[in-house]
Amino acid sequence: MSAPTMSATSDAAAEADTAVFERRESVVRSYCRNWPTVFESARGAVQTDVHGREYLDFFAGAGALNYGHNHPVLKRALTEYLAEDSIIHGMDTYTPAKRDFLLAFERHILNPRGMDYTVQFPGPTGTNSVETALKIARKATGRSDIVSFTNAFHGMTLGSLAVTGNSMKREGAGTPLYHSTSAPYDDYFDGSTEDFHWLERVWADSGSGVELPAAVIVETVQGEGGLNSARAEWLRALQDLCRRFEVLLIVDDVQAGCGRTGWFFSFEEANIDPDIVCLSKSLSGLGLPLALTLMKPELDQWEPGEHNGTFRGFNPAFVTATAALNEFWSDDRFVGDVRDRSAQLRRGLEEIAAAETGATYRGRGLLAGIHFEDLERAEKIAAASYERGLLVETSGPDSEVVKLMPPLTVTADELARGLEILADAVRATA
Ligand code: PMP
Repeated sequence: MSAPTMSATSDAAAEADTAVFERRESVVRSYCRNWPTVFESARGAVQTDVHGREYLDFFAGAGALNYGHNHPVLKRALTEYLAEDSIIHGMDTYTPAKRDFLLAFERHILNPRGMDYTVQFPGPTGTNSVETALKIARKATGRSDIVSFTNAFHGMTLGSLAVTGNSMKREGAGTPLYHSTSAPYDDYFDGSTEDFHWLERVWADSGSGVELPAAVIVETVQGEGGLNSARAEWLRALQDLCRRFEVLLIVDDVQAGCGRTGWFFSFEEANIDPDIVCLSKSLSGLGLPLALTLMKPELDQWEPGEHNGTFRGFNPAFVTATAALNEFWSDDRFVGDVRDRSAQLRRGLEEIAAAETGATYRGRGLLAGIHFEDLERAEKIAAASYERGLLVETSGPDSEVVKLMPPLTVTADELARGLEILADAVRATA
């Protein structure tokens, strides 16, 4: 055995430092630029860095930590599972962990809502779920085009990027992005143009030069695209239009799903019935990678193995996902709390916005923020919030919206404290 060397000591000393990340990691890194510290531990809505400084986390892993960091019930389920020689990696083989998850998903989510979706496990990320949805829609309809919306965000792989609005992200593809058409999202023209007028006309007109698409993909709240929230009647009208033309409706609930808006699925409030649903982020509850693509049974037209992947059976994620479904979704108490906190967040944000010029509330549920006409303001506020111990990000094509996404388990006191810090950051940047 070699004796401990100097480097062990200096490595430890360097732990508090960010030098190795800056030296070794790609410049593509992003969130760490706004929060340039080293985070070491976390519980609930609080993260602690290596210097012992605490931060209120109103970012929640971009929606991957809806139940907060290290929720004790989910963590216990995981540690008990790991303590045995249980299956960790399972491809798509049958395991008790996967069976328990599917049973809990039926019992707590599908059955009470009268939903009959076939479940596909794509790869473990949101963009895997979206790619899968697009392939299913194309295969089932035999058409290739997909309609998406202005300021949509669906992920970073080529199919998902093709239906994403942001020009910087699209350019990153380095190749033309095909077979997608962008249409105006709800209120894109401030109510001055009739909704869906264009889509309705070009789909009906065989001389329009616009092909009938396989599907329309929509977020009910645009998490990355500026917290635009579609009205329930707009979503219903979109569904009606799709049904009339036999175009499939895909809801990308990767960010707004899993309770974020006060419903398990963000589209439940609008009472629509999408053909395909994408879910990921908070499915596992503990931040472990897991995604689902839900489809109407008649759309399940794959050949066995036609859409494959190594990481479609990460059993620890099934275990924590099952624990999360049992803990939070067996009755209405949790959604009741989420709705209370959502009302508190909205009141707080509206108050802050009212004291400013050119500032308006945006969003829905616990996915909400403030849009600033001054396009530089939101980034300054996020930076000032970080200095004051609050983690918030920005959203929108010009990062012009301050975005708050606390864990759904945030307490009323924590939420009030976060709003106070935000209000202070807003004043400090006026
Ligand atoms: N769809 C939506 C609506 C998202 O918000 C995101 C991630 N922000 C994705 C898809 C992609 O998910 P992932 O980063 O896990 O690929």
